Amino acid sequence: MASIPQSENETNKTGTIVNITKSIYWLIGWVLLLFSCTVQEKPSHCGEKPYVVASTGIVADVVKHVGNGVLCVEALMGPGTDPHLYKATPGDINKLLQADLIFYHGLHLEGKMTEVFEGLKAKKNNTFAVTDGIPKEMLIIADSATKTYDPHVWFSMPLWKQVTLYVADILSARFPQFHKEFLQNAQRYVDTLMKLHKYAHDRLIKIPTSKRVLITSHDAFAYLGEEYSIEVYTLQGVSTLDRYGIADIEKLAELIVKRQIPAIFVETSVNNKGILALKELVRKKGWEVRIGGTLYSDALGEPGTIAETLPGMFKSNIDTIVNGLTYEHNESSN
Ligand SMILES: [Zn+2]
Repeated sequence: MASIPQSENETNKTGTIVNITKSIYWLIGWVLLLFSCTVQEKPSHCGEKPYVVASTGIVADVVKHVGNGVLCVEALMGPGTDPHLYKATPGDINKLLQADLIFYHGLHLEGKMTEVFEGLKAKKNNTFAVTDGIPKEMLIIADSATKTYDPHVWFSMPLWKQVTLYVADILSARFPQFHKEFLQNAQRYVDTLMKLHKYAHDRLIKIPTSKRVLITSHDAFAYLGEEYSIEVYTLQGVSTLDRYGIADIEKLAELIVKRQIPAIFVETSVNNKGILALKELVRKKGWEVRIGGTLYSDALGEPGTIAETLPGMFKSNIDTIVNGLTYEHNESSN
């Protein structure tokens, strides 16, 4: 994976900003806890069902599937929303106060809201990070100096299976009367994930190894790369807050030309400026690389599209990658 090292000044500046931001969100977390002593009303559309709030649409997807027919589940972040940059709204705070149960992703995916969720988890017994269900040795280390892990685990179906079973355990402990339903629902979801795991393997393996190279804006696909032996290169690191410069675009352009990579990809939740600049630089160097399509990286698609669920989003990405990387390049095609 290629990521962009920051200059020392940038690192210091970013560090200060991160510290200030962390302080603000820590404060919000404590305000939340303070107000959580007051009685809050659940949304009327939930009726008698327990109200469960999830941070992202992807976290909501697993909770909705496992709690199907039993729970009323709502995500704070909608389709196309970048979780690394998302800031809580007053409406979100209300929802967190109303919730019977709260699930967030963890591993610092919810960059600016991490402190809020960690504050709730430390002080209340109704808040859980779904990635706590994955043994740490199964995670990819993003930065060994800061001991942080790559949060984009939903691109490994076996890891998302671990998350599913963990959510089922938490729900069963919380609402034991629905234990059987949760187990059956979780098994159905896991079966779908494992079928997709095979589907991805069967399709991706057909791409010649030399062309099995995935180039995107930010580093969200390392787990996909590890599962299916794909080389992954990106302009940014695991967070969309990470910076990149001309030298990074230049380095990737050289790799694309040298390996004659047929396609690079944009992402629904990330600005595509860098990828378009990369395409242009490759063209100037004498090779035509296509935009192979749009990948769903950190957010689900709009309701009514195939990507409105995690399994649909995963399948859509696999099809887009295979179609892009198996495209037969010729001079007149671009
Ligand atoms: Zn991301």
